Amino acid sequence: QLSERLIRVADYVPKGAKVADIGSDHAYLPCYLCLQDETASAIAGEVNEGPYQSARNQVERVGLTKRIDVRKGNGLEVLQAGEVDVITIAGMGGNLITTILDQGKEKLEGVSRLILQPNVGADTIRIWLRRYGWLLIDEEILEEDEKIYEILVAVRGDDSALYQEDTELKLLLGPFLMQERNEAFKKKWRYEVENWKRILTQFEQATANEQVEQKRKELLQQIIMVEEVLSW
Ligand code: SAM
Repeated sequence: QLSERLIRVADYVPKGAKVADIGSDHAYLPCYLCLQDETASAIAGEVNEGPYQSARNQVERVGLTKRIDVRKGNGLEVLQAGEVDVITIAGMGGNLITTILDQGKEKLEGVSRLILQPNVGADTIRIWLRRYGWLLIDEEILEEDEKIYEILVAVRGDDSALYQEDTELKLLLGPFLMQERNEAFKKKWRYEVENWKRILTQFEQATANEQVEQKRKELLQQIIMVEEVLSW
């Protein structure tokens, strides 16, 4: 049984897609996709030997070796430009996800959709998407096994309308997520605010200098902005 998190990621993959799942581990996601949709095909990329072997075994076990190609390598280097139209990267931090995209930018030619599932640091991904001409079209936040996950879906396009106002806040919280404000969203950001308040107290106890004062002000501003969203 696939985790709820990966089922939700899979929901954003269009029918008949050629997908690359990077950092695929057991290749559960591509296997699920290909079992659900007989017109889909996939590449499962893994940099580490253990997970690479797990992926190969799993693909063989479910009889999908003709439709899922398991490849070993770092990030997008396992791909040829134009080979896939969708890329999924799930279960890692936002920094690693953006590093993988950044290092493989030339492999993104022909890719029309990115489905990214950061465990932390979704803001880093939103900033990257903005910078490289990707338009965020949907987002999801969910809790599973007491962890909170975000899913970001992007296609190529101009996002100036999406971020016209409150840009910084939207990059941090997610423009779609902050509109919906579901329970997982509230839980995550209440927790973050509590954490920031603890840091703020530490700033207040620290020897005052310009740098500390600047950081303190920024953090306070951030707390006020996020608390306001939570109170809507
Ligand atoms: N995508 C699966 C999921 O969401 O359940 C697995 C997530 S697992 C926590 C992260 C996987 O990414 C590991 O199997 C790791 O070996 C792989 N990985 C990390 N960095 C990578 C990179 N630069 N290129 C390819 N795979 C990578």
